[in-house]
Amino acid sequence: MRITMIGSGYVGLVSGACLADFGHDVVCVDKDEDKIAALQAGRIPIFEPGLDSLVAGNVKAGRLSFTTDLAGGVEGAEVIFIAVGTPARRGDGHADLSFVHEAARTIAPLLKDFTVVVTKSTVPVGTGDEIEKIIKKANPAADVAVVSNPEFLREGAAIDDFRRPDRIVVGLSDERAEAVMTEVYRPLYLNQAPILFTGRRTAELIKYAGNAFLAMKITFINEIADLCEQTGANVRQVAQGIGLDKRIGSKFLHAGPGYGGSCFPKDTVALAKTAQDFGSPLRLVETTVAVNTARKRSIARKIVAACGGDVSEKKIAILGLTFKPNTDDMRESPALTIIQALQDAGAEISAYDPEGMAHARTMMENVDFASDPYDAAKDAEALVIITEWNAFRAMDFKRLKQVMKTPLLVDLRNIYRKDEVKGHGFAYVGVGRPTED
Ligand code: NAD
Repeated sequence: MRITMIGSGYVGLVSGACLADFGHDVVCVDKDEDKIAALQAGRIPIFEPGLDSLVAGNVKAGRLSFTTDLAGGVEGAEVIFIAVGTPARRGDGHADLSFVHEAARTIAPLLKDFTVVVTKSTVPVGTGDEIEKIIKKANPAADVAVVSNPEFLREGAAIDDFRRPDRIVVGLSDERAEAVMTEVYRPLYLNQAPILFTGRRTAELIKYAGNAFLAMKITFINEIADLCEQTGANVRQVAQGIGLDKRIGSKFLHAGPGYGGSCFPKDTVALAKTAQDFGSPLRLVETTVAVNTARKRSIARKIVAACGGDVSEKKIAILGLTFKPNTDDMRESPALTIIQALQDAGAEISAYDPEGMAHARTMMENVDFASDPYDAAKDAEALVIITEWNAFRAMDFKRLKQVMKTPLLVDLRNIYRKDEVKGHGFAYVGVGRPTED
């Protein structure tokens, strides 16, 4: 099957490479010339485990290519995926659909035979109708079916998620498009991944409802963690105790510094706005957004308190800048707000991240970027783990103690045992674990 992927970012590139790996003939298009030049030269512009060899293998097999030329890229395509960004719109936080609309406008005059246009980007309910209108207005004769196929992959585990999804959601009303989409995902059918055919608006809403629910779950356990700190309970055990209930489940019950990333923050706000516009406000989601936003600065105050209430001119070492491990994505990372708040309180910041520092350098000021955790910890009065990279899970505390001014670990991901860290002569502050471990 001949497929075009418009947008070659985290979602488009991974989806394009995986679809090529299924045996489809895929052209990935992006308007970012540097990105396409890198891909054409065999370089992967993002960090995603396993993506380099997957891309290289499929390019070599002649099934995957890259171009900035959209007209050439869609020539002969039976399926055109739109996987461009839908960031929060400046000002009101609604989803900015300008990239999606631009893609629709650009492909409209190029459509010849029956073509399935698939929105993979996360878009508010009703966007498929708009895309259809844009295409029909520009090209009334176009034989086109507009389908919603939201993507659920997670950065850091994207290839595995795409190949072994919990489910595939496809929103459409056209029988020909259903046959085409079945063919696109046929290799996954064989893996028995459930494919859920729904109406288009339903599919669009499933994506937002899913993300909002997960964001709410994280925010719930974060508030429970705060209560644990006031009551002497242990949030890890509370999470385990409720998570073993199959109706609740154990995932997304890890207390921490608040959710961030390229999806949850913008998608929760966009869903809340959409719901308000439809006169059906989602108060749980609105509260989730407010609680999570406030949490990041309150976490900074927690760090200040751990340092004795004053961090002015104290050096604080930060480990982990990306919003989660195994990605270089810094979008809406909690580290951005926490570091800013610590700087506002007068702290000097050193930081280390295995993959995020190139992006972080462009987003933060007055941060001393270190070459490893020990370099970051030099002369620091606190070591703060913000992102739980594996590289931070087995640190040499003897070495850390030698280089730090004050041996204090603030573990915002609860990856260490308190007694173990204390045994090395460190003071330890976790999240929601005031007493026992
Ligand atoms: P991204 O910013 O990494 O990539 C988007 C790409 O689209 C960019 O490279 C940009 O240059 C390109 N682009 C924009 N307009 C274009 C146009 N008219 N023609 C060609 N290329 C164009 O974004 P992403 O993280 O891949 O997210 C894409 C969509 O998928 C968003 O709607 C996002 O919400 C959704 N999503 C993201 C994830 C994730 O983990 N990143 C997961 C699920 C869904």
